[in-house]
Amino acid sequence: MFKTIIEPFRIKSVEPLHMTTASERQKRIEDADYNVFLLKSDDVIIDLLTDSGTGAMSTEQWAAIMRGDESYAGSPSFYRFESAIHDLMGFPFVVPTHQGRAAERILFSVMCKEGDVVPNNSHFDTTRANVEFTKASALDIPCVESHDTAAVYPFKGNMDIAALKAAFKQHGRDKIPLVMMTLTNNSGGGQPASMANIRDVAAVCKEHNTPFYIDACRIAENAYFIKLREKEFANTPVKQIVREICNLADGCTMSAKKDGLANIGGFLATRNPELARKEKELLILTEGFPTYGGLAGRDLDAIAQGLKEVVEEDYLNYRIVSTAYLGEHLTRAGVPILQPPGGHAIYLDAARFAPHLKPVELPGIALCVALYVEGGIRGVEIGTAMFGRHDPKTGTETPGPKELVRLAMPRRVYTQSHVDYVIEVVSEVYRQRDKLPRYRITEQAPFLRHFSAHFAPIK
Ligand SMILES: *Cc1c(COP(=O)(O)O)cnc(C)c1O
Repeated sequence: MFKTIIEPFRIKSVEPLHMTTASERQKRIEDADYNVFLLKSDDVIIDLLTDSGTGAMSTEQWAAIMRGDESYAGSPSFYRFESAIHDLMGFPFVVPTHQGRAAERILFSVMCKEGDVVPNNSHFDTTRANVEFTKASALDIPCVESHDTAAVYPFKGNMDIAALKAAFKQHGRDKIPLVMMTLTNNSGGGQPASMANIRDVAAVCKEHNTPFYIDACRIAENAYFIKLREKEFANTPVKQIVREICNLADGCTMSAKKDGLANIGGFLATRNPELARKEKELLILTEGFPTYGGLAGRDLDAIAQGLKEVVEEDYLNYRIVSTAYLGEHLTRAGVPILQPPGGHAIYLDAARFAPHLKPVELPGIALCVALYVEGGIRGVEIGTAMFGRHDPKTGTETPGPKELVRLAMPRRVYTQSHVDYVIEVVSEVYRQRDKLPRYRITEQAPFLRHFSAHFAPIK
């Protein structure tokens, strides 16, 4: 008999949601200049802005918080953190940081210089920014299957191996200080890479004697997809799959706000003692002493426990199935989404959702505003507001590559009835899609404008 896959936890402490009416939300979004980043989170009912640092901690993590030891140097919390990473990933040198981007900044500062090229299946935005900050260039080489949002392919997070070989040929191995793979591919829709592809990337790196690093933010989710979709691993424990991925790599960067199941934190890890020494020198300059790296002892303990829980398969099954549940029900209602559903988020395809709006009329912003007013749901536009370019001289607007709205799922936070509610609200907005108005930008900053821009509907 088929049984519903239930949340594998019960609730000990509750956080009330503030219920609001549509007319109240209309007023709130006007006051926020139609930018959901400028809303107060108390005015949001279901917050799907990000899965980063928004997860719920377990009883064991709260207990670990109390065990946290705040000694400046040599805290036992650090040794528990370090041994959790050794146990899961096997990298011998571990450097804690306050979050993922700090790990990136340190890694690229040590490894990259002007004129270098770093290939990646797709750089996350902070990863790209940190590569470019060293004056190296960030080369995205996702597999060809990833370009069509409607195509269903099991490993859309793969790297294009031919393009990687071509990059070595074009730039030479001296210009490529490392190759990186983002697991799962966040910018590409939370899509996984296969073990076969990761092996191929590692082999090309080995052939050129080039270090291979992993952006491991969602490595447990990626490993679970490998178990589900790659025959060879159908009976392999997820923890062992994670280790097998890490065995192919020279190190990683990690945001513990994702698969660390913690609210803050990160780390970098490596097999190279000389590199670890240089990383720790930089760490002391901006993050802190190498046994805390900008974190409290209690954060290190929460992460150590989170890394154990994140590879529990009941948790991962619930996680991947509940994201897929949202994606499948929206698809059944005719709502266009990026296929297949990713691990941590569903991406609504705003261009197909509202084909009467041109990219410069901001269909993603129109959709975000409508989801908020209709049901108090907060998603995020990943389209022209985020990635388009404004030329202040001519006033012209270059659209972004895709018009998406991401609904990211916080870990262990919402229940199935919350997800059912999201399905109802998105479906209702879809039924009334012809009414979505055009939007324009009324105020914007020169960098990362989506965070603070003001928008207005065009009457
Ligand atoms: C979130 C994220 C980062 C950056 O981590 P922060 O903790 O937000 O600094 C890097 N890479 C990927 C793939 C991410 O999702």
